[in-house]
Amino acid sequence: MSETSESLDRVMVIGAHPDDPEFGCAGTVVKWAQAGKTITYVLLTSGDKGSHDPDLRPGRLAALREEEQRAAARDLGVEQVIFLRYPDGLLENTLDLRRRLASLIRQHRPHIVMTIDPWRPYQLHPDHRAAGQAALDAIYAAREWYIFPEQLIGEAEPWRVKEVYLFWTDNADYWEDITPCFETRISALARHASQVGLDMDRLTKRIGERAREAGEKSGYEYAEGFKQFRFH
Ligand SMILES: [Zn+2]
Repeated sequence: MSETSESLDRVMVIGAHPDDPEFGCAGTVVKWAQAGKTITYVLLTSGDKGSHDPDLRPGRLAALREEEQRAAARDLGVEQVIFLRYPDGLLENTLDLRRRLASLIRQHRPHIVMTIDPWRPYQLHPDHRAAGQAALDAIYAAREWYIFPEQLIGEAEPWRVKEVYLFWTDNADYWEDITPCFETRISALARHASQVGLDMDRLTKRIGERAREAGEKSGYEYAEGFKQFRFH
């Protein structure tokens, strides 16, 4: 995937809600996991407001959605799922969030980060804007000695992420062929039954159409498109 000889084998996916990775980049996740990359998910909220059922209290819904996220991640070969449990629907790109993400980046040392494109025009969901922005700001902070220096006592050092892939973008300039793993991508999405339960047929069709459109731009049958940044 890269012209450099350096292996980029640790990947961190940062999303706002359980199901963001499965909607956004799951085909690439499973493909890269099968190729031997170590994938870590970081979910900033547990999606506790993602229901219109008045009997489903936020605490119960959060637990259910974390369970669904873990099951989807297992299907895709994701090694670890981390929940930061900020309140759903109220996510902000605060210094606190940026600090926590920078710390996770410095600990896990991902070569690649995948996150939401915060600059997609008319991106209405505040959590999606905040998550993408916070992830990018944390990538910047993590590589600087003078930002959150309290994290750098002892052996800890700044960490420079080498590549970033933004999903849900209108400005894709990198495409991954997901033809061989399209079915797995769909079945992982179906794990989020509280969100997609009755809609799976419609969603499978929509995701198939989108993946085919991305494929047309890149010469594959099914593809996922990303805005790519390279820092090496
Ligand atoms: Zn979301």
